[in-house]
Amino acid sequence: MLLIESQGLLVKKLQQKLFELSYNTGSVDGIFGPRTQRAIICFQRDNNLDIDGVVGDETWKKLFNEPFPQPLAIETPPSQEKCFQIFGDFRIPGWKEQSLVKCDLSEFKEELKDVFFDWMTENDKAFIHNNWFGFMTHKSVASKFQEAFRNVISRGLHKQIKTFGGCFNPRQIRGGQSWSTHSWGIAIDINPKWNRFGQKNFEMSENLARCFEDIGFVWGGRWTGFPDAMHFQYATVR
Ligand SMILES: [Zn+2]
Repeated sequence: MLLIESQGLLVKKLQQKLFELSYNTGSVDGIFGPRTQRAIICFQRDNNLDIDGVVGDETWKKLFNEPFPQPLAIETPPSQEKCFQIFGDFRIPGWKEQSLVKCDLSEFKEELKDVFFDWMTENDKAFIHNNWFGFMTHKSVASKFQEAFRNVISRGLHKQIKTFGGCFNPRQIRGGQSWSTHSWGIAIDINPKWNRFGQKNFEMSENLARCFEDIGFVWGGRWTGFPDAMHFQYATVR
């Protein structure tokens, strides 16, 4: 089953349950919109849960008396054309709340403490000052990013990471019509200042790139014509 279908089914299940409990979610359509969120907030208030409008483990357990279903991990990166199918449509209201999670790198805080979060987008900045360390990413690739950073640390390459250039950022690719993989939160930029888009004499090392490539990420530094050496994405090009 594709992730997007299962997500829609989960939201439907949620809306159906809330409806049965007399909370108004609007229609049972599988789309996590503002009315569904308001219903969740009411449910959380009535049940003495943390009132954040986000369906996490506690809220799901209270509703269904079973643990929150684990997000599907994607073992091989899909083609860029399939991203909408696999990762969902970031243009739909509620997609962000349902799809993005914290990629928590707290366990590497010591090693990464000098990384300057330079070009971080507003989306990332909103979370960085809380009691965790990392960035927002798509839930089905969060563990992949953690694994990549684990490679970086265990291979002793963390000093090579100087600035973090962001992850989730819905936008079209430079000079093109198609969507950047940043739109789904499945790509990150590292050391952008020294590895600019189209720059052929970039600084990114092969060793650092392999920490990502070894587990399925595609490195923009391999792209001929217009390399994008700062860029690592969990999707193939075609
Ligand atoms: Zn990028």
